[in-house]
Amino acid sequence: MTSCPHSHTIRDVTPSARGCEECLAIGSPWVHLRLCRACGHVGCCDDSPHRHATAHFRETGHPIIEGYDPPDGWGWCYLDEQEIDLPNQTPQLGPIPRFV
Ligand SMILES: [Zn+2]
Ligand SMILES: [Zn+2]
Ligand SMILES: [Zn+2]
Repeated sequence: MTSCPHSHTIRDVTPSARGCEECLAIGSPWVHLRLCRACGHVGCCDDSPHRHATAHFRETGHPIIEGYDPPDGWGWCYLDEQEIDLPNQTPQLGPIPRFV
């Protein structure tokens, strides 16, 4: 078990979109999705062209994300820069849209 001092920010959230909110708005592809466990924002990972999940953390300070595409149940804390254990896993809203 990894203890993270920010785990109190983890909430049960409803995903804001089926894919990365910002990429859907501009028609950009992404690689993987990350779900913000503070507010439910869906963004894309750092292998994606626009890295919207990290941008969301920089804008809002929400530290904890969940691997969301596919749902893997792992968590990541941007402040500690390490994987953390989540109390539960957010059900995925499907189907996930794809630009291929
Ligand atoms: Zn933390
Ligand atoms: Zn994106
Ligand atoms: Zn957030």
